[in-house]
Amino acid sequence: MRLQAPKGTYDVLPLDQPRWHHLFDTTRRVLGRAGYQELTTPILEHAEVFEKAVGDAADLVVQKEMYTFEDRGGRHLTLRPELTAGVLRAFIERGMHTWPSPVKLWSAGPAFRAENVQRGRYRQFHQVNLEIVGSDSALADAEAIALMGDLLAALGLRRTVLKVGSVGDPDDRARYNAYLTQALAPHAEALSPTSRERLRLNPMRVLDSKDAGDQELVATLERPLDFLGEGARAHFGAVTGHLDDWGVAYEIDPAIVRGLDYYRRTAFEVHHQGIGAQSALGGGGRYDGLVRQLGGPDVPGIGWAMGVERLFDALEAEGVTATDRDRPLAFLVAMDEAAVSELAALARALRAEFRIEHAYVRRNPTKGLRDADRSGAIYAVLRGERERDAGVVMVKHLERGDQVEIPLEALADHLRAAARDEPQPSTSLHDAGVRTADRG
Ligand code: AMP
Repeated sequence: MRLQAPKGTYDVLPLDQPRWHHLFDTTRRVLGRAGYQELTTPILEHAEVFEKAVGDAADLVVQKEMYTFEDRGGRHLTLRPELTAGVLRAFIERGMHTWPSPVKLWSAGPAFRAENVQRGRYRQFHQVNLEIVGSDSALADAEAIALMGDLLAALGLRRTVLKVGSVGDPDDRARYNAYLTQALAPHAEALSPTSRERLRLNPMRVLDSKDAGDQELVATLERPLDFLGEGARAHFGAVTGHLDDWGVAYEIDPAIVRGLDYYRRTAFEVHHQGIGAQSALGGGGRYDGLVRQLGGPDVPGIGWAMGVERLFDALEAEGVTATDRDRPLAFLVAMDEAAVSELAALARALRAEFRIEHAYVRRNPTKGLRDADRSGAIYAVLRGERERDAGVVMVKHLERGDQVEIPLEALADHLRAAARDEPQPSTSLHDAGVRTADRG
């Protein structure tokens, strides 16, 4: 049998690495400046962590998507389907409620869901997450939302649409769910099977349905924003007020919902029109009941998650490319046997300062230059018997084609000067490494 990666997973090839670096460097910079600290949690957690997070109104769709298995010790473990539950498990287990409050964290890494694979939907995908734990201030909501926008902009995205709504307090949700149950009961037969199940378990999630028939029914109904009580309404006004003060562009979406019970008040999503049907780049909301639901202290929190693969799709749709894998400054070509070990030793010495590659075997000049070219190097450095006798190396600029002979001892100085004159081969991707195509 031919070995293949499991369905819904993929390899990140060397040429794809720069955009990952761009994403994580930018995240670290943008969120780091706002005082967020990076937290890395295990990919495996006890199944209980996610079961508790999902709660009683167990959304069967969520449950079915989880990769849960029994290990050899009979423990039920789950490959995390999202990052928040694990972050809050760590918050509780490590006593972070004693840290200066609020605790502001970001996390990134793989997540797993047994989904139908399609464009924008994988079984192993990646998320970037932000969490603010310990504040119920509308400033925290506004900051989380604004930072999501800041990160998208810093990545180079322009065509994102931020939608903000509110699911209300638990009482408001209950009233809205009761209303939905009543309003949809006469139409239950017309709903899609998924929505029918949701209507029974978690009515609000019917609003999330992508089914055209469901959408038509739902369009005639009142929205969660119409059901806000006084507290939730004031909070929503404060959040949008801050966003307005800061000049953050957003739309109010009265129908935004968050499936799980612990969500309250602020809910938001960010979409991109250029990435197909799965247009959500990410979303988030306030989850004041969650830490307690997981067995921790009663502290409020808010957070968001964005899908890395969808961000890449959006960057591609906007013509933003993270450029240049790291190019060697020079590729050393040995033209006789003696030069092979000479140049290997030289490469090791030069690597203290420069990015250098070399062939492991003797090459004739034509093949050697071809190797050098394919490595992406700016210079080829050639040495054979003739150069050894003269105590020199031949240095050739691969794009321009000009070449000079220089004494072996002068090579480091020569490369240093050349590296100063050349547009730097990028060694890490910061803003300068990101080229934005003309958008007309
Ligand atoms: P969620 O935790 O479902 O709110 O998802 C947050 C974000 O993660 C979504 O907006 C997507 O960008 C991304 N995402 C969720 N599921 C998948 C998946 N199966 N494949 C790729 N990205 C996903």
